[in-house]
Amino acid sequence: MISCLLAIISGVASADGLEKLKAERLEAVRVSVDAIRKQRVDFPRTDGYQEHRANLHVHSHWSHDSVGTIEEIVAAAKQTGTSVVMFTEHPADHYDFFVDGHRGVRDGVLLIPGAEMQGFLAYPTISLRGVTPKSPQELSDLILGRDGQAFVSHPEERMDWEIQGVTGMAIYNTHADFKDEKSMISAMKNPFRMIQLSELIRKYPQECFAALQNYPADYLKRWDELCLKAPHTGVSANDAHQNVGFVIRWTEGEKGQLEDALGEKLIEMDLAFLPDSEKLRKDKNPGDLIFSMYLDRYENSLRHVATHLLLKEQSEQSVRECLEAGRAFVAFDWMADATGFDFYGESTAGRHEMGSEIVIAKPLNFHAAAPLPVHWKLFRNGVVMAESNGREATFAADSDGVYRCEAWLEIAGEPMLWILSNPIYVRPEM
Ligand SMILES: [Zn+2]
Repeated sequence: MISCLLAIISGVASADGLEKLKAERLEAVRVSVDAIRKQRVDFPRTDGYQEHRANLHVHSHWSHDSVGTIEEIVAAAKQTGTSVVMFTEHPADHYDFFVDGHRGVRDGVLLIPGAEMQGFLAYPTISLRGVTPKSPQELSDLILGRDGQAFVSHPEERMDWEIQGVTGMAIYNTHADFKDEKSMISAMKNPFRMIQLSELIRKYPQECFAALQNYPADYLKRWDELCLKAPHTGVSANDAHQNVGFVIRWTEGEKGQLEDALGEKLIEMDLAFLPDSEKLRKDKNPGDLIFSMYLDRYENSLRHVATHLLLKEQSEQSVRECLEAGRAFVAFDWMADATGFDFYGESTAGRHEMGSEIVIAKPLNFHAAAPLPVHWKLFRNGVVMAESNGREATFAADSDGVYRCEAWLEIAGEPMLWILSNPIYVRPEM
């Protein structure tokens, strides 16, 4: 927990991150995002699908590194417009993630159990208890052979993986985005520094969380390479735990203890050093928590990024079908709700959704539309081949290749990736 916390906080506090964690910068981001959202128009879907916001890679109390309850997670999902939560618990002996995991519709949110195991985000349709595959390929084959789905997770740790038939890969992982920033780890070992930052985190929770966002260049490079060989559905991984933070428990008299977000005691402390120590203890008794602060509240981590699914209906079956088809896009909805985004191909044969594999036809056009004016980038085989500005864009294609697009916004003067489409795979004529 501590190493994870420090890794994350160090991201906040490294030269760049620290700059973003200043009140003026956070306020500028908020003002910028508010102004952008005012331009947003609802874009009704014309493809006949129901769009559902999904969060993949979510941990709850079943995982050793989270104490999140299902009530908290469902409440956070509802606050962020999420209607599908796909869990990825760490398997352990005391439970079966498939049998005991969260499942079904709860308060309008569809829950699907899964696991983070052996390098995959795994969504099997059977229990994997007692299963000991000899290789990642064997595990993927086992899951997919029973109509389950598997995504390569944390690709930064397995850039050489080429799993035949795998459903796809995580093309963004929040935790991976954080962990490359290390310079302020030592400063962050001082919990009082954290407490100093807590007012900022309270006032700008989403902006502080988003200060960690970078363009996932290494992930996308690998994804583009893999998509040249076979379709790989790109999904975002929230890696949500709500385990980065501190609580302070009043023990007795002027004494208290600092605990991590999982309730582990870190140090004893003299409460007299805390600003507002009297106020914090008002109406509290020894043994009570008098202060809590999380950088990664579920509400903030689930809002940060999501995978939007184009479903036939809100059901587990439909989610599985959609992920296999690649009919989905990834959006950093913390900036603005990306609902309505569309990217499709059009030829004399008709309309081709994201994830489609088609044979080159002439003419072939790609259309992109978003609920905000954006900067569009069309990629062919991982290389930008056209750019334009506006709510909509049309690109003509005259060769085969793997086509995907990105939509960028400018937030407080900084160009930032907002939406990533899944590809349309255009094959040569036989
Ligand atoms: Zn995880």
